[in-house]
Amino acid sequence: MARETAGRIVVLLGAPGVGKGTQGVRLGRELGWAHVSTGDLLRAALRDGTSLGLEARKYMDAGELVPDGVMIDLVREHLVGLEPGRGVVFDGFPRTVQQAEALDRALAREGRAVGAVALLDAPEAVLFKRISGRRSSPGGRVYNVYFDPPRRDGFCDDTGEPLIHRADDQPETVRTRLAVYQEVTAPLIGHYDAPGLLVRVDAEGDIDQVYAALQAAVAEAHPAADAAPGS
Ligand code: AMP
Repeated sequence: MARETAGRIVVLLGAPGVGKGTQGVRLGRELGWAHVSTGDLLRAALRDGTSLGLEARKYMDAGELVPDGVMIDLVREHLVGLEPGRGVVFDGFPRTVQQAEALDRALAREGRAVGAVALLDAPEAVLFKRISGRRSSPGGRVYNVYFDPPRRDGFCDDTGEPLIHRADDQPETVRTRLAVYQEVTAPLIGHYDAPGLLVRVDAEGDIDQVYAALQAAVAEAHPAADAAPGS
């Protein structure tokens, strides 16, 4: 199958804190594609208090992966709700080889396939500070105690409300998340490199620099992404 007809599917791969969420939202918006973040889907389920959310919570808070069967069903169900043939940017899925194989099978049933996999790469020390330093206001403004601190430690500049430090952003949990990435998710690099789908993106710079590198990498690996925005 030619890449142009592969179905406009891009996977963002990379360790926690590397910026997959920020970059994925932007890439999806600019291409007019769906952005599918399994972390966001799980957090929404948690907020809605569904049984899936409650089941997922214990894994998320501990920095562990939610079991493959749960994740594969969640993604399959979500894909059914998308407009047929619409481009998709996957963010945080797949995270295991078993998930990658299930995704390949689900896409193949629609005559589609992953077109490019962008590996966002930054040193672990940077990732650790990006996540463990993250604090957010109840209204959603995000700070970082290392890179973008509030004026008064622990409180939002805009509203004065106390800032929240997510359970899965606590240093111990961040260590677990990074270790799980190395052990279980990093093998996907070989899985996607072998068929020539992998493109590497330096993700150490600022948001705009990383986005420019990502856009260039995706356009090169997947010309249809460049040629058919919004389709
Ligand atoms: P994220 O926002 O992508 O870092 O995801 C937050 C948490 O949700 C992860 O630490 C996992 O506990 C869980 N999670 C998200 N995506 C997956 C996935 N594809 N497989 C297993 N667990 C996941």
